[in-house]
Amino acid sequence: MEQDVVEQIGTIVGENNYSTRIADLYTYGFDASIHHVTPEIVVQPRSTEQVSKLMKLANSLKIPVVPRGAGTGLCGGAVPLKGGMVMDLTRMNKIKEIRVEDLYCVCEAGVVYDQLQKALGPYKFTFPPTPGSAEACTIGGMVSTNASGMRAIKYGGTRDYVLGLEVVLPSGEIMQLGTRTLKNASGYQLDRLFVGAEGTLGVITQVTLKIVPKPKKMAMIIAGFDTLEKAGKCVSALIAKPLLPSAVELMDSTCIRAVNKAINAGLPDVAALCMIEVDGDPKVVAEELVEVVKVADSIGAVGLQQSDDPAQMAKWTNSRKSVMAALSRYGPGLVSVSLADDMGVPISKIPDAVVEFAKIADKYGVVIGTYGHAADGNLHTKMLLNPESPESWRAGEKAVRDIFDTCLRLGGTVTGEHGVGISKAPYFQKERASAIIAMKAIKNALDPNNIMNPGKMQDWDGYIIQHLRYPCADQNQ
Ligand SMILES: Cc1cc2nc3c(=O)[nH]c(=O)nc-3n(C[C@H](O)[C@H](O)[C@H](O)COP(=O)(O)OP(=O)(O)OC[C@H]3O[C@@H](n4cnc5c(N)ncnc54)[C@H](O)[C@@H]3O)c2cc1C
Repeated sequence: MEQDVVEQIGTIVGENNYSTRIADLYTYGFDASIHHVTPEIVVQPRSTEQVSKLMKLANSLKIPVVPRGAGTGLCGGAVPLKGGMVMDLTRMNKIKEIRVEDLYCVCEAGVVYDQLQKALGPYKFTFPPTPGSAEACTIGGMVSTNASGMRAIKYGGTRDYVLGLEVVLPSGEIMQLGTRTLKNASGYQLDRLFVGAEGTLGVITQVTLKIVPKPKKMAMIIAGFDTLEKAGKCVSALIAKPLLPSAVELMDSTCIRAVNKAINAGLPDVAALCMIEVDGDPKVVAEELVEVVKVADSIGAVGLQQSDDPAQMAKWTNSRKSVMAALSRYGPGLVSVSLADDMGVPISKIPDAVVEFAKIADKYGVVIGTYGHAADGNLHTKMLLNPESPESWRAGEKAVRDIFDTCLRLGGTVTGEHGVGISKAPYFQKERASAIIAMKAIKNALDPNNIMNPGKMQDWDGYIIQHLRYPCADQNQ
């Protein structure tokens, strides 16, 4: 990047709020995905006005801009594919309003999920999505990926809580979208357009979120099964009962063994388990626990454990949250990579999907851990690959293709919560084939110079095993 452009950027954000140091640039080339590309400059604006000036400058010079929250995205959304500017929003981290009487709060895009939860705590209110990355991910990143988590079955995902957004367009124009009211029928719901846009349309600088009262009580049940299929059947049987648990997490034996080994989680050594959480009024929780046990028994559950002790429940939840990291310690030379990591299928198709995933693992000789927020049909698979072996990546890529094809055949989606980025782009294009022209038209209308996170989602035209963060000789197969 030309020195005079760097100086203009410095004038907008101030001396300590940008960097072209090689170590900083290298670091900002990553998110939590398998990909890496180094940008030319990193900026850390502190206000919407600064974002607006930066966008005007970038647009006039056609500099690619990639907005970034905490970089916890798992599919390369914040990786600056075309170089240019990474715009780190984490210094815009003020919670501006909490209005429990109106059921909303307003915060800047860089506020971290747990920071907001902590602020809502004294009011006994919550913003429920609860992603596994809660302690790091930002509200702007969550809106941009339509993040959700283990409680989506009962409480929905981020999109269900967005009431309004402040967005800076590539032109530098500042738009106020949505309202502070719970209902709004006032024309195009443009705020929704930016939910899941992954930074391809503009920069979100402020978010108005609906908030809800915290449930009074929670309890959990662990149910083991002798087959993965039975665990899948338990999930759909619970929903069909009908019961509305606040979460049902599923883990296969690979994941169970991995967390038991890595953090001594003490989970039962079974083929698969369901971790079922119910919440609400204490009387209702007690009644629902009885019903959950009946359903789990009817599917042949073994070693049922139940608790409402916060410490025990936190231990179980933590063991589930540790799966991703624990899998990387599963076997020597293998790392857990995020490929095909958050598919969604109709809930009744979970047993079919998990059985098929196991067959795909056998077919390509790849270790696959299957787990997920199964109550809403959201399944994660993590592949354990040797990141330095082209053969290992090739096997992984074939397995990914078959997993995505399976999910689409079952009526599902390639991404339930993490978004598209790079890692899922070819299969997203397959899933959304009939809508790609409309998506490109919207992108072109708002970003005619194609500076916002270019080359992603509908515009990606490569393979998934590209721009790897790992040393591997054969990236561009
Ligand atoms: C251990 C772990 C567990 C996880 N568990 C979950 C989970 O349970 N559920 C879930 O949904 N996800 C999960 N994730 C994925 C990730 O945390 C979410 O996608 C999260 O929403 C990303 O937030 P972020 O602030 O890190 O965004 P980033 O990774 O920085 O960015 C994600 C995308 O949003 C865009 N973006 C970020 N901020 C803005 C902004 N202000 N304006 C415009 N675009 C923006 C970026 O350009 C990028 O395309 C997990 C990740 C990890 C590492």
